[in-house]
Amino acid sequence: MQYVSTRGQAPALDFEQAMLTGLARDGGLYVPAEIPRLKHSDILDLAGRPYEEIALRVMQPFTDFGEERLGDMIVKSYAGFGHDARAPVKQLGANHFLLELFHGPTLAFKDFAMQLIGQLFQDAMTRRGERITIVGATSGDTGSAAIEAFKGLDGVECFIMYPHGRVSEVQRRQMTTPSEVNVHALALHGDFDDCQAAVKHMFNDHAFRDRVGLTAVNSINWARVLAQVVYYFSAATALGAPHRPVSFTVPTGNFGDVFAGWIAKRMGLPIDRLVIATNSNDILHRTMATGEHRKNGVHPTISPSMDIQVSSNFERALFMAYDRDGAAIRTLMEELRAEGGFPVSQGALQALREDFGSGRVSEEETAATIRDIHARTGETLCPHSAVGAKVAEAHLGTSPMVTLATAHPAKFPDAVEAATGERPALPPRMADLFDRSERITEVPNDVAHIQSLIEERIS
Ligand SMILES: *Cc1c(COP(=O)(O)O)cnc(C)c1O
Repeated sequence: MQYVSTRGQAPALDFEQAMLTGLARDGGLYVPAEIPRLKHSDILDLAGRPYEEIALRVMQPFTDFGEERLGDMIVKSYAGFGHDARAPVKQLGANHFLLELFHGPTLAFKDFAMQLIGQLFQDAMTRRGERITIVGATSGDTGSAAIEAFKGLDGVECFIMYPHGRVSEVQRRQMTTPSEVNVHALALHGDFDDCQAAVKHMFNDHAFRDRVGLTAVNSINWARVLAQVVYYFSAATALGAPHRPVSFTVPTGNFGDVFAGWIAKRMGLPIDRLVIATNSNDILHRTMATGEHRKNGVHPTISPSMDIQVSSNFERALFMAYDRDGAAIRTLMEELRAEGGFPVSQGALQALREDFGSGRVSEEETAATIRDIHARTGETLCPHSAVGAKVAEAHLGTSPMVTLATAHPAKFPDAVEAATGERPALPPRMADLFDRSERITEVPNDVAHIQSLIEERIS
């Protein structure tokens, strides 16, 4: 399978090259040159199978890997999950279901992709006889998922910078308690933007980049999107697909998770409605409602993993809506950079509206939804999942509606306690998180200092 850039000017790559490259050299994102379709009978045959088997059948056509090699990596990726179903479906209301994506080691859906990426990177490095250094910035969830995924792997050193004193205690401890020496949690004296700026600076320092084999695993990596396609198949087939269509509502920030749903639909999964749910950082909802894609600043919310100003993976949906016209996407992205936004063409807007619904949820509504669903059903949702559930309730129809529950409530205990009056407990397998010893390296907001620390640690 070949991958092409959304901006049309980077070389086509195979799956492994696209994964190792991340961002294309023309600034675009890699997408499959064509989307493989599964036959009705193939989808029918997925129902009731173990998650790992569904993952193999869904992902293999996008890769150049043999069944055994990919199958082994998948099995290792999900072995540490705390639920046999990996992504269990629970009934929330008359025709409303919850897809629980928080049974991974860091209690958020990012584990599904990051665990697989860890295996894929290790496999590639071992075969190539190379080493890489992963450097990332995090406001919480991505960094903890990366450290859990890369700890103890051969050929990979992983450095995660987080803003000192500005992540939750659960998030910090998930990054600082693993004892494997190839993972490094760096508490930077600055804010999240400073962490991101430091990463950017290191990528632009080409000599450093080459010396350490610098690599990123951010949300635009195609392999991350691909891993997320799988649970749309497992959930839909559990609820009667392909005989009956199923709808999904996806709380989203960078559009990665909901774009994975779009891929599932193009592969032949009968998805009725695919609904984008945003918090008050609503650039995606505004785009769908008005046809104008325009930045308007970041507002901190109680669902912080969706607090974004620009939704990076949306570029992939635009590329498809503009009939894979890389030149058109280059023009739009230049307008976004220079003028803070752009109008979506009538044709593209129509295409997007055929595939996606959308809704926006305020802070008050998010808290009220956590409280209300807790009172009505006994389920405790995290704030991100509550944003999804609220939008889903406005889009209920005849097909089963599945809301993606993206994190465990105990990952955001303050917001949940404020809404329900009860502090959510960590799952038993993690109950000792607060007793484990931490390993933290505090660093000044000084890129040269951080770069020499990285070079020292990997030598
Ligand atoms: C990252 C994250 C999201 C948003 O996912 P996108 O792929 O950026 O749309 C939603 N909820 C939680 C808990 C997250 O960690």
